[in-house]
Amino acid sequence: MDIKLIEEALNSEIRAVDSLQALEELKVKYLGRKGTIAQLTGAIPALAPEQRGLLGRQVNALKQKALELFAEKQGQLAAQPRPEQRAAVDISLPGISQDTGRLHPLTQVIDEICGMFVHMGFTVVDGNEIETEFANFTGLNIPLEHPSREAFDTFYLDVPADSAEGKYLLRSQTSTVQIRAMQKQDPPLAVVAPGRVYRPDAVDASHSFMFHQIEGFMVGEHISFADLKGVLEFFCKGIFGQDIRMRFRPHFFPFTEPSAEVDISCIICKGKGCPVCGRKGWLEILGSGMIHPNVFKTVGFDPKKYTGFAFGMGVERIAMLKYGITDIRLFCENDVRFLKQF
Ligand SMILES: [Zn+2]
Repeated sequence: MDIKLIEEALNSEIRAVDSLQALEELKVKYLGRKGTIAQLTGAIPALAPEQRGLLGRQVNALKQKALELFAEKQGQLAAQPRPEQRAAVDISLPGISQDTGRLHPLTQVIDEICGMFVHMGFTVVDGNEIETEFANFTGLNIPLEHPSREAFDTFYLDVPADSAEGKYLLRSQTSTVQIRAMQKQDPPLAVVAPGRVYRPDAVDASHSFMFHQIEGFMVGEHISFADLKGVLEFFCKGIFGQDIRMRFRPHFFPFTEPSAEVDISCIICKGKGCPVCGRKGWLEILGSGMIHPNVFKTVGFDPKKYTGFAFGMGVERIAMLKYGITDIRLFCENDVRFLKQF
């Protein structure tokens, strides 16, 4: 009889026990009147006298060990809630709530807008906030005499100028991504680029020195104004509702020709006229147009072969219209009472 094997079996059986009743049954199996240990003890007198002492000590040690193990396990099981106690827990009681964070309303709007264009096959691209005069102005066909190039209309950086690209500056528009993306990749291209832009504007309810834009453009063969209209209609109806109307108003941008501003029927008054739309019934949403051939020449695309459209919108303005927010400064004040509403 191998005492060691019996002890190992006892150990693993005790570990597997999960109720006081099962423990009691196991205790009978080992320590009962006809249990394993009693049988071992009963076998001792039949042994040769010189073996009796050794086995007797081993059996006694095993019995001691078994008593300790059973007592320990009984303590553990008694400390656990019984099944009927577990069932008494009322799971319909309110739990311990956890404060979870959420995305900033502007991030939510950016994600929603970009998601819509991704759905149409556009790729989301990141651009640099520190750019050059070339990407922000020259490459976009904005001439030297254009007012937005004046020092008081742009944040220029006081770092050594790059001779080929002019001075460094904080980009004043996300259109810079048009230049950078077209430098990197040949047509066909369909890109949306969200990001921050900077202008030295005095801060008030509708102006900020920093705000967000989303630029979008598509370049390829046979891209027409009708494609622009279709894409923007899908976008406007997706964001503001299927019942809104849309109109193109002729406009001028240096980097598109022809250019148009896009209005939607006022989402507040449904076109009847109210203070939000200045009683006009229309809200200006974005600028757009067909990419100017000079922009294609800048990046080395053949303007006879390729055409494309571009558009740009202010994220804050769209978020303000969508949610009825009346002050742009609320977005940056980190007031939880405001942020919790989104
Ligand atoms: Zn209105």
